[in-house]
Amino acid sequence: MLIFREQTSLRAHIGTLARAGKTLGFVPTMGALHPGHLSLVEAAAARADVVICSIFVNPTQFNDPEDFKKYPVRTDDDIRQLLAGPTDILFLPSVETVYGKGAPPPPAYDFGRLETLLEGAHRPGHFQGVGQVMARLLDLVGADYLFMGQKDYQQILIVKELINILNIKIDLVSCPIMREADGLAMSSRNLRLSPDARRKAPGLYRALLYVGDHLEEMPFPTLLGQATEDLTRAGFQAEYLCITDDELNLLEGPSAGPMVVLAAAWLDGVRLIDNLILR
Ligand code: AMP
Repeated sequence: MLIFREQTSLRAHIGTLARAGKTLGFVPTMGALHPGHLSLVEAAAARADVVICSIFVNPTQFNDPEDFKKYPVRTDDDIRQLLAGPTDILFLPSVETVYGKGAPPPPAYDFGRLETLLEGAHRPGHFQGVGQVMARLLDLVGADYLFMGQKDYQQILIVKELINILNIKIDLVSCPIMREADGLAMSSRNLRLSPDARRKAPGLYRALLYVGDHLEEMPFPTLLGQATEDLTRAGFQAEYLCITDDELNLLEGPSAGPMVVLAAAWLDGVRLIDNLILR
């Protein structure tokens, strides 16, 4: 595995690969890697000739400065995990490498309604930050395929829109959510849960399963109300729990088309998100 920290050397290497006709699969991450991230690496290796993974904790997507400060950084452990798998290139840029010293601020993107809903509503500015970093990374890496997790459902829709806005040719592949044995969606933020909170944390997934199991029995607002009460009893403070179609349009009752249940909730000072594709 080759490690690059600068864009010039990375670009030169990627240029050589492109001239040799190799396809490139890109897995962007913020590090503190877990098997969820590694599943994206495996998916990339199955599809592309060369796998490039990036680790960059992007300051512009943290609406809460405390969250940024507390974000786990475990680069040595991340490198060890990547070395054991099929990653060919690791890109480890600094903030300066990504955004350029003294460069003008990155542009704002118009993501329309997607930016005002759910994560967008609760984390103002978050998706602008995601758009900025992804535009920069996609430009630097110039990959053929991009692998992202369904865990961040709304982020995938935002990045799809970004790819449209930038008019670049790249295939975005959405990969399933990897879970712990007790159902908790794997996340770098899980490292911040106290032992007591960690025991309670699978309650979020159980709430999604409960919603999925009772879809036909009552109007959605009643069902979601019950599931939210369960979450509160289990020690969570729910930010949202809703059922939507695959484009995040809210549904009030069962639909013949795709349905997704999505949630964000605080547990012991840690914000957890999860979702389940119901149909
Ligand atoms: P992050 O490091 O949190 O920015 O995540 C990097 C990528 O890994 C994103 O595309 C996430 O959606 C994806 N990811 C995070 N957690 C999981 C998981 N439990 N299962 C699958 N993919 C995940």
